[in-house]
Amino acid sequence: MVFSPMMTSSLKIGRFFGINIRIDWSWLLIFFLITWNLAASFDQIHDDWQTGSVLALAVIAAVLFFASVLIHELAHSLVAQARGVPVRSITLFLFGGVSNIERDPDTPKSEFLITIVGPLASIILGVILLVAGNIIAAPIGDTVSDPEATFGDLEPAATLFLWLGSINLLLGFFNLIPGFPLDGGRLLRSALWASTGNLRQATRWASWVGQGIAWLFIVTGIAMVFGAQIPIFGTGVVGGLWLAFIGWFLNSAAVATYQRVVVQDVLADVTVADMMRSNPPTVASTVTIQALVDDYVMKHDDHAFPVVDNQRLVGLITLQDIRNIAREKWSETTVQQAMTPIDNLMTVEANDDAADAWTKLARQDVRQVPVVTASGSELTGVLRRRDIVRWLQVHSEVGSV
Ligand SMILES: [Zn+2]
Repeated sequence: MVFSPMMTSSLKIGRFFGINIRIDWSWLLIFFLITWNLAASFDQIHDDWQTGSVLALAVIAAVLFFASVLIHELAHSLVAQARGVPVRSITLFLFGGVSNIERDPDTPKSEFLITIVGPLASIILGVILLVAGNIIAAPIGDTVSDPEATFGDLEPAATLFLWLGSINLLLGFFNLIPGFPLDGGRLLRSALWASTGNLRQATRWASWVGQGIAWLFIVTGIAMVFGAQIPIFGTGVVGGLWLAFIGWFLNSAAVATYQRVVVQDVLADVTVADMMRSNPPTVASTVTIQALVDDYVMKHDDHAFPVVDNQRLVGLITLQDIRNIAREKWSETTVQQAMTPIDNLMTVEANDDAADAWTKLARQDVRQVPVVTASGSELTGVLRRRDIVRWLQVHSEVGSV
């Protein structure tokens, strides 16, 4: 999957080709579920194996499964970088992996190439593993045309290869379903983009198809919960809920991606200067928190105040910073001690693109950002998230972002 969501609470586990590899907390849950599920099925098929080796094999299989997901994402990310689209990170999470790319590719051809290599990598890897598994399995008996029937006779290595092979094939083909933002949906978008020449229109249509398929997942999942037998997906409460859950995730992702394109479109040719608040109330770093609360917080509806000493911006103090200070210490603590200093502060310039500033605000999850002069020291205004939201409400059909 190629995606540019904002995921929080993820842990960096390594770096490949300059790309940070991160694990979202939800990944731990799926890792546990897969290991548990595998151990249970290995145990069922191979009643002659020790519990220890069943568990060990299940853990190895689960780790290799996530390595497979990583290979899929690395294929996307490396081609993205080669086509000039920066990649921030790859995150493994509940539903597999995502490559967090900085922006949409410049051309439909780039989008097509960046997208197709993921499923292609999974399918090629799947075929190689299946062939290898069959070669390992061959000396024992017949080749594996029906894995279910013959799994019981297989050595651990062959079991591992065959399972990983089929799971990679599944990964490759599942991602080709044309439900945006799945890879198949992105391929559909690149085709629509190539034929209409209009990325926003292509995204709108791909998102509609994506939402349709997502709802199909949800309905099918619910039908499975109530006992319907669906080819490939089977039946049952767990499988049904899982499919419905994936559908729900795909639906929100399709809607969110479309909204983001609309936002970029509405904010095109708009600069930070157009929507920033000029001459915002500022505070000196020597003021106490008590005075700040009495004289500023209670008199303005701002959530943050730029800290300015001798015409120079030195930091930003927010309501959250104030809340972090115990109330009885307000009269002895200065703004200087509680603020975020300028070195740790994100800033924008007045002639920056509003769309870029919006992305920055959303990515850092902050409510406002100081606007500074090119030298970076003088304050010219404050850009607040709610000002951008108001602009969007006035200028587009997106009611709430
Ligand atoms: Zn993919």
